[in-house]
Amino acid sequence: MKRKLVVLHIDGVSADALRRALDGGEMPFLRSLIDAEGYELHRYRCGLPSTTPFSQAGILYGDNSEIPSFRWWDRERRVFVQFGARSTFKQVAASYFQGCEPLTEDGACIAACYPGGAADDFGIAYQDRSYGHQDRSRSAASVLVPYLANPIHLGDWLWQTVTVLGRTAKDYVEARAEGRHPARAYVITDVLEEIFVHHLTRYAVQKAMREGYSPIYAGFYAFDETAHAFGPTDNSSLRVLKHVDRSIRKIASTRDAGYEMVVLSDHGQVDTVTFAAANGRAFGGVLADLLPGFRVQEVKGKEYGASETGAIGRVHVTLSGGLAHVYFADRPVRMSYRELAATQPELGPAISELEQVALVMARDGEQDVFLRGGREIGGAEINGVLARYDDPEILLAQLSRLNSFRNAGDLLVFGAFIEGKQVNFENQAGGHGSIGGEQLVPFVLAKKDWNIDTSGVNGAHELHPILVRLRDELLEGSAGGRLPEVSPLHNDHRADDQHTAGDLGQ
Ligand SMILES: [Zn+2]
Repeated sequence: MKRKLVVLHIDGVSADALRRALDGGEMPFLRSLIDAEGYELHRYRCGLPSTTPFSQAGILYGDNSEIPSFRWWDRERRVFVQFGARSTFKQVAASYFQGCEPLTEDGACIAACYPGGAADDFGIAYQDRSYGHQDRSRSAASVLVPYLANPIHLGDWLWQTVTVLGRTAKDYVEARAEGRHPARAYVITDVLEEIFVHHLTRYAVQKAMREGYSPIYAGFYAFDETAHAFGPTDNSSLRVLKHVDRSIRKIASTRDAGYEMVVLSDHGQVDTVTFAAANGRAFGGVLADLLPGFRVQEVKGKEYGASETGAIGRVHVTLSGGLAHVYFADRPVRMSYRELAATQPELGPAISELEQVALVMARDGEQDVFLRGGREIGGAEINGVLARYDDPEILLAQLSRLNSFRNAGDLLVFGAFIEGKQVNFENQAGGHGSIGGEQLVPFVLAKKDWNIDTSGVNGAHELHPILVRLRDELLEGSAGGRLPEVSPLHNDHRADDQHTAGDLGQ
């Protein structure tokens, strides 16, 4: 009864968004997993920051400490760390995940932020949004060439590209006509690139399954990208979920190679309004006004305040969805709040007084410091504020853990909700990374028989032991339920590389 494991990571889909898509008929295959194959939908809390590098590190390694955001300032190495198109994580990677047992040890980790201890990434990594650079990865060409050589794949990709492009353009025009402003930067390039990488990833997962790797972990990011551009409940985003469902169905059709499948997400999204639209000015500009003489550099964004040569100091502000970290960049270590308040007594209170800000967090020794409405708050008052976003005790523990990271900003700024939309420090119509709403509650779709309990998971790193246990029980054949035997034909991975694109079909 030995089985292998394939884990599909669908980025940015909250448990509630999945529930709506299941009920609304957008994801008929996932629906059939629940109705006919004994799957159930589990909710879990991803913790803070509610962003992919943090959650995925937790899931893959069981350790996501010192990942305070999607992008941050590493004071010791003086590096802006970020993921995505121009990832710089590799410059600091050596200090992460030491002594961890990766979920995908000797398996395949495809289109993920991290190598995950895997033997192969099939040439596709999330970190540069194109092709992998792991030491042991095969060349991207070995995946790309056979993929492109198959006219069915090309036709499929072209068809989806044309339909999505057409619909996206139509949505964009309609949104503008209704006075909405979808995040232009995301609309064409990222969405198109995601479709291509999405197709290539699906192809690589099926190839990895044919070759017998286990476990396999693969990330699909098209929903998250589209939801950033249009918002998580927009029709464009729902349409992408249909494509995702179709991809999962195709991957699932390869399960007869001896696999069990888990589908999960890393965080959700909430509708957002940009800080600049809500305030009238960019957050960096507001900070520069509060810090005369300083040069304020937004990442990603512009520079504000004093000139390069005339500045008395530099401030870096890293913007990631509804969370901003503020760093006094000349300092080699994090500043205690007392120290900061001694030199800039007005800064924390003034930021916390902005209508666009829900909460400011700082740290004093081992103590968390919270500011709201222009002053420090604590005790029952902070509980009352946090209760608007989640169970206050759990949220306080999540905030406190984030606040313990050396790489956190001297001040952490959380966007407020205005008319149901969270203030977002980037140019996004949907976002995550912060506190509040569906962004904090992703899902795991797994078989009931496996007896998975995620009710106590308050951080993605707590999902790791659950998945490791499932992986090991499937391998031993002791996981619950009646499982078909692994076909001996597929046991020897890496031996049967002679499959061509044509064998793999769709
Ligand atoms: Zn995202």
